[in-house]
Amino acid sequence: MATTGKKKKKGALVDQDFIGKMEKSLSELKSGIIDNLIASNEDFKEIVEGMDPKDLADIASDDIDRKMIEAIGSQEMKRLKLIDSALTRIKQGKYGLCIKCSKHIPQDRLVAIPYALMCIECKSEEERRNR
Ligand SMILES: [Zn+2]
Repeated sequence: MATTGKKKKKGALVDQDFIGKMEKSLSELKSGIIDNLIASNEDFKEIVEGMDPKDLADIASDDIDRKMIEAIGSQEMKRLKLIDSALTRIKQGKYGLCIKCSKHIPQDRLVAIPYALMCIECKSEEERRNR
C-alpha cells in the first residue's frame, strides 16, 4: 500500500469530496449565468421576475420555455444544459465518467470545465466531426 495517510477506496469512481466540490462549483456557475442574464437581458429579467427565487435556484433547462430560450440565446442555453446534465450525472453517481466511452475524465479537466461530460479524446473527435 502507498504510504500516504489519505485513504482512497480502490475502484471508487471519483472521490466524494471532489464531487461535492464540483457540485458546488456547478451550482455557482449556474447561478452566475442566471445572474448575468438578469443583469444583461431585459427579456430574461422580466421572465424571472415573475418567478419565486427558490424556483430560480432549481431552474432546470427542461423548465425553460421557448420564450426564455430566445431571451437567453443559444450559447448560454447550451452551457446551462451542460451544467444541468453534469448535476444529473452527479445524482446518478456517474459524474466524472465520459458519456461516450465511460472512461474517467481526468480531474484536472473537470476542475477546468466542471460541466465536461466527455473525455478529451471523445470531445476532440466530436469537434472534428462537427467542423
Ligand atoms: Zn470518452
